Amino acid sequence: MIIEAEHLKVEYGHSVVLSDINFYVNKGDYLNIIGPNGSGKTTLIKLLTNLQKPSQGKLNIAPVVFGYLPQHLSQSAQLPANVYEVLKFSNAKKPADEAIKKLLSDMGMLELMYHPMRKLSGGEQQRVYIIRALLSNPDVLILDEPTSALDPEFRKFFYAYIEKLNDNGMTIIHVTHDLSDGLRHGSRILELDQVVKFFGTFEQYQLLGHKKGGHHHHV
Ligand code: ADP
Repeated sequence: MIIEAEHLKVEYGHSVVLSDINFYVNKGDYLNIIGPNGSGKTTLIKLLTNLQKPSQGKLNIAPVVFGYLPQHLSQSAQLPANVYEVLKFSNAKKPADEAIKKLLSDMGMLELMYHPMRKLSGGEQQRVYIIRALLSNPDVLILDEPTSALDPEFRKFFYAYIEKLNDNGMTIIHVTHDLSDGLRHGSRILELDQVVKFFGTFEQYQLLGHKKGGHHHHV
């Protein structure tokens, strides 16, 4: 087990945002955290990445490296820096050029290596942040609604790529407000709405009558 949450509670003033949260993550798991807006997903990620302390409960986390792909594009999207500079210098470990080029090539971005960030489309900028998250070679990759700026075609590629990383042992935590993307068989679901509405496998979730995706999907 690399993450174990026991009876976590988070309050902001008098309002309870999360209560009695219990779940665990094993190495190599693919966990989807789902729930409507305001259900506490971002707050839970803040707990995991140590940006927030629970007011009650216990969170045990093994010494692992987290990679985090935030929902909102960072400030560097406005800077004159080019793609290479962002990837090389916004990482304390100063990744090797070979690793940078390999990932740029995997993501179909090699020819944009020396383009200024601000001249890229939202989807291209998002790919740069995906690469930046992967360059830290994380044990656990946290994806916070990663597809907001991605076009449908790259989205498919993106999730196939994430599945391959997961097959190779990377633990994935995927935050999303619906289930139409990124759900794979064998993955787990943690459904939040202040409390845990469901924690179990995708298959168990389906048995309870939930469907993958919106009304146009038939499973
Ligand atoms: P989600 O990511 O699922 O949309 P959040 O974790 O962002 O949900 O928010 C859960 C609830 O906590 C919301 O009602 C939100 O308004 C509230 N909240 C989040 N951050 C703060 C904060 N810093 N201070 C007060 N309330 C907050």
